[in-house]
Amino acid sequence: MSNRKARRAWSAALRKHCRPGRVLHVELRHDPACLIYSNARVCTCNPDRVLMDDDRKPLATVEGVGPYDPLELSGVA
Ligand SMILES: [Zn+2]
Repeated sequence: MSNRKARRAWSAALRKHCRPGRVLHVELRHDPACLIYSNARVCTCNPDRVLMDDDRKPLATVEGVGPYDPLELSGVA
């Protein structure tokens, strides 16, 4: 899946599941070799993103969306 397609799929998943008063969690699944686990703390992989509800039940998984940008969430809910 291309990065652009993945981003689209991700925002579609957010739009689908974001509701007022609903708590969502976002988990990034990094490659074990990713430098986020080193002292550099810089993501060098292309992590999968998992969108979960408040009970940590997975709602959507999107591969290859790239590093997480917290600003993406604003304007969606
Ligand atoms: Zn990473």
